[in-house]
Amino acid sequence: MNPQTEANKDLWKAIYNTGDLQHCFNCSTCISGCPASFGDPPLLVRNLARKVMYGLEEALFEDDTPWACVSCSRCEEMCPMDVKPFEMILHIRQWQASNDETRVPPSIVEIYKRGYTQAVGTNVETRQALGLDPLPIITNNPEQLAMFREMLMKTPVVAANDYMFGG
Ligand code: SF4
Ligand code: SF4
Repeated sequence: MNPQTEANKDLWKAIYNTGDLQHCFNCSTCISGCPASFGDPPLLVRNLARKVMYGLEEALFEDDTPWACVSCSRCEEMCPMDVKPFEMILHIRQWQASNDETRVPPSIVEIYKRGYTQAVGTNVETRQALGLDPLPIITNNPEQLAMFREMLMKTPVVAANDYMFGG
């Protein structure tokens, strides 16, 4: 796909063809509860909604942040306009992948290396207060992590790009 550099006014129809997205009034509530908004680069749901509605096809096509979403649905619960931002994120991923089958989302590399996508350092105290390990269990279990990597290596997208995963 050669994404348009000019604004594509029909982009929202190709990605997320519901009336809900047009009700977004840019309040940022979806960002305030999103754990991936602390990522680097941050996932800013409101900005993605703007890109879709303004038809910024090239900028949206090159944006990898939708792949940092951890599917918690908080944005969905918090959005006052019932935009269903999480569903929009899934539709953006689908649109990106269907227009470039060679796309390797950076989050897959993160999952392969660490077993998870988002740094949890800021949650260590909360996790310990709840009696949990300071880091996700798989990080503390090299055997499970190896099995997880072996499983990932069998998926088509990773197998076709194993040089990115140290394979
Ligand atoms: S579902 Fe995804 S975009 Fe929505 S709050 Fe959770 S991580 Fe963020
Ligand atoms: S919470 Fe809903 S209305 Fe507010 S910016 Fe996010 S998507 Fe738009």
